[in-house]
Amino acid sequence: MARADGNQRPPSLAGASWLTAASTRAVLDAIAQGGFQARVVGGAVRDALLGVPVKDIDVATTAVPQDVIRLAAAAGLGAVPTGLTHGTVTVISDHRPFEVTTLRRDIETFGRQVRVTFTTDWSEDAARRDFTLNALYCDADGTVHDPVGGYPDLVARRVRFIGDAEARIREDYLRILRFFRFTAAYGAGPPDADGLAASIALAAGLDQLSAERVRAELLRLLAAPRVVEIAAVMAEAGLIERLIGARGDIATLRRLVDIERALGRDGDPLLRLAALAGGSRHLTALGARLRLSNAESERLARLVLPDPAFDPATDESEARAFLYRFGVEAFRDGVLLAWARGDAAADHSRWRDRFLLPARWTVPELPVRGADLVARGLAQGPAIGRIVRAFEDWWIAEDFPQDEVRLARALSDLVKANRN
Ligand code: ATP
Ligand code: MG
Repeated sequence: MARADGNQRPPSLAGASWLTAASTRAVLDAIAQGGFQARVVGGAVRDALLGVPVKDIDVATTAVPQDVIRLAAAAGLGAVPTGLTHGTVTVISDHRPFEVTTLRRDIETFGRQVRVTFTTDWSEDAARRDFTLNALYCDADGTVHDPVGGYPDLVARRVRFIGDAEARIREDYLRILRFFRFTAAYGAGPPDADGLAASIALAAGLDQLSAERVRAELLRLLAAPRVVEIAAVMAEAGLIERLIGARGDIATLRRLVDIERALGRDGDPLLRLAALAGGSRHLTALGARLRLSNAESERLARLVLPDPAFDPATDESEARAFLYRFGVEAFRDGVLLAWARGDAAADHSRWRDRFLLPARWTVPELPVRGADLVARGLAQGPAIGRIVRAFEDWWIAEDFPQDEVRLARALSDLVKANRN
């Protein structure tokens, strides 16, 4: 665990379970077998030094991709050439993907397109990375290498560009978003002044990015713990408007995050996006603008119209009817956003109660089907569908009665009414 104890050399990660895992060893050993060096780099080393769980493992190596492929095969590992022009091979070990990338120097960078030359110099590879805390490397034996002084920044929770911030952003404007994303996830205090000034000065470059890249970084930024603070800085600088076309409703975002925390829920990036976007006009435009999936766009579209069922001031039967018709996700989304848009506190018991309705009430199944009507002697045809729908409306309006006699009577009445 990193502590600001004056020791600015990174500690060893020897013995870390993700490093000693057979799957990781197999990848590092396979490359070492060929006489090349291989080190874990980036997020895994950063997170391990912070004592947070390690997710994906990226590896940097002096071996060129052809050698990586050959050595992986020789060790019985899978190898997929996922980004050969960038020097990346995905090695599959024990069903887990490891991105193995040859050390490289970036000659020319135009966003995603980059002309690279491979190198065996670790500091050159470090210099092409984005932030100092993302350029820490770890040997198979746990020794951590820190070519650009990332460890002191990590300990101080400073997210700092490697080299000149403006120059680094001009190479790839996505780094503006990554700067805010990593600051929201790992930083403390206000964003690094140089990084912030450069991001604001070069903000117009965000327009050149593909919707997919923006979407991925933006959703990760929205999931980060310090999103409210950082989004407020971005909104103030006009960056939120540039990204989503809305100025940024920080007050609603803040309340949503507080409510999520009070409920003990993980932050939901899409819902946070809806809160940040504010009014309905912006919500409907977001799907296309960020090229969201159909499911995501539909989820946002549903949030355009608030429903009385979300408000705990209405009778709970309203909420049950909504749950029956539109499902648990739409209900939870709707309540959370309506709650955040109002002024009730994050621990307001009636809002909390309304939100928790799906946990104490299971959506019942409609107790009548078309087949039941056929069994009563009705001929197949459109009348059957009409009667079932009318019955359903009655059943919802009556708050889902279960009494068999009452149900049978209601159904008979509807059948009679349809005969006339
Ligand atoms: P996460 O935990 O979010 O995956 P990460 O640091 O692993 O964090 P990735 O996006 O997986 O982030 O990238 C892996 C590494 O590649 C980074 O740590 C960084 O060194 C480098 N990198 C990724 N994207 C860029 C970029 N756009 N510009 C420069 N370096 C980058
Ligand atoms: Mg990663």
